[in-house]
Amino acid sequence: MLKDKFGRIINYIRISVTDRCNLRCIYCMPEEGIKFKDMGEILTYEDIVLFLERASSLGIKKVRLTGGEPLVRRDIEKLIEMIKNIEGIREICLTTNGTLLKKKAYSLYNAGINRITVSLDSLDERKYRYITRLGNVKDVLEGLKKIKDMGFKHTKINTVVMKGINDDETIKLLEFALSMDMEIRFIEYMPTKYDRGRNYFISNEEIKKKIKEKYQLEISSYHSNGPAEYFKIKNNFVGFISPLSKNFCKYCNRIRLSSDGFIIPCLGHDIRINVRDALRKQNIEEIDSIIKHAVSMKPKQHAMLRESISESMSYMGG
Ligand code: SAM
Ligand code: SF4
Repeated sequence: MLKDKFGRIINYIRISVTDRCNLRCIYCMPEEGIKFKDMGEILTYEDIVLFLERASSLGIKKVRLTGGEPLVRRDIEKLIEMIKNIEGIREICLTTNGTLLKKKAYSLYNAGINRITVSLDSLDERKYRYITRLGNVKDVLEGLKKIKDMGFKHTKINTVVMKGINDDETIKLLEFALSMDMEIRFIEYMPTKYDRGRNYFISNEEIKKKIKEKYQLEISSYHSNGPAEYFKIKNNFVGFISPLSKNFCKYCNRIRLSSDGFIIPCLGHDIRINVRDALRKQNIEEIDSIIKHAVSMKPKQHAMLRESISESMSYMGG
C-alpha cells in the first residue's frame, strides 16, 4: 500500500499520455500552443506499462489516461489493451475533450475503457469555439450521444466555469447533462502560467446558489474517490470541484505522471520526479524506490491560492 506522510492512501494515477492537443482552450494553452516535447522524450507505451506494473504492485489500482488530448496519441487503444492485462489495475478511465469520440468510441469500448469523462464548457457553438479556439461543439455532442447509445455507464461531463464567459450557462449545461442521464461536475478555474493576469475565477458557491434558485440540491455522501462534493439532483448527481474555495487536499488519493516521464505528486506544487531514466534502464528497484519517494513528497496542501500553476494542465494531466 502506498501511503504518504499525512496518512493518505495513494491508489490512483493520472497519466498524461501526450502533451499534444487538437484544441487550444483559453484556460489551458496560449493561442500559438506551447512548445511540445520531442517525441524521444515522450514515454513509449512499453515505458508506461512498465511504470504501471510497478505502481500497481505497490498499490495503484485505478488509472486515468488524460493529456493533452489522449485521443490524438496514435493507437491509444493499444495502450489501453496493454494496461488491461496488468494485474492489480481494476479500472481504466479516460478524460477527453470529446472531439474525436464519435470516431473512437467503438475501438475504446473494445479495448476495455471502463468510464469516460468528457470536457464540455459550452453548448453554444460560437462560445465553444471562443473557449477552445479550434473546436466544434457538434463533434462533442455527437460523441456524447454515441457513447450513451453504446451503453457506456457513469459518463461524466466536466465544465470549467469562467466568470463572464460561460457562468451564465451553468443551468443549461446541468439540464443537458440530466437529459443525457450523465453526471456533471463544475470545476473552478485554476490560474496557470499561461493565463496569468486574467480573471476567470468564480467560486463554485456562486454556481451552487444559482442552481438552488431552480432546483433542490440534496447533499450526498456519494463520492467517487475524488475531490468533488456531490449533490443529488433529480435521479442524478451534480458535483463541484472547488480547489480554490474549498480545499479538498485531505482526501487526495492520487499522483500524476507527465508524458515525458516525471511523477508529479501534487498539481499545485512544482515538484517533478524523473522516473523516465529508470524506466528506460528497466531498473525495477530504482523505479519502485522513485514511486515511493514521489508519494513521500506529496505536500499537505496545494499552493494555488498563493501562486499560479507553473505548467499547462495539458503537460501535467490536469
Ligand atoms: N484534453 C482533455 C480534456 O480537455 O478533457 C484532457 C486533458 S485536460 C488538461 C483535463 C481537464 O483539465 C479538463 O477537464 C480541462 O477542462 C481541465 N483544465 C485545464 N486547464 C484548467 C484550468 N486552468 N483550470 C481548471 N481546469 C482546467
Ligand atoms: Fe486541450 Fe484539454 Fe487543454 Fe483544452 S483543456 S487545450 S482540450 S488539453
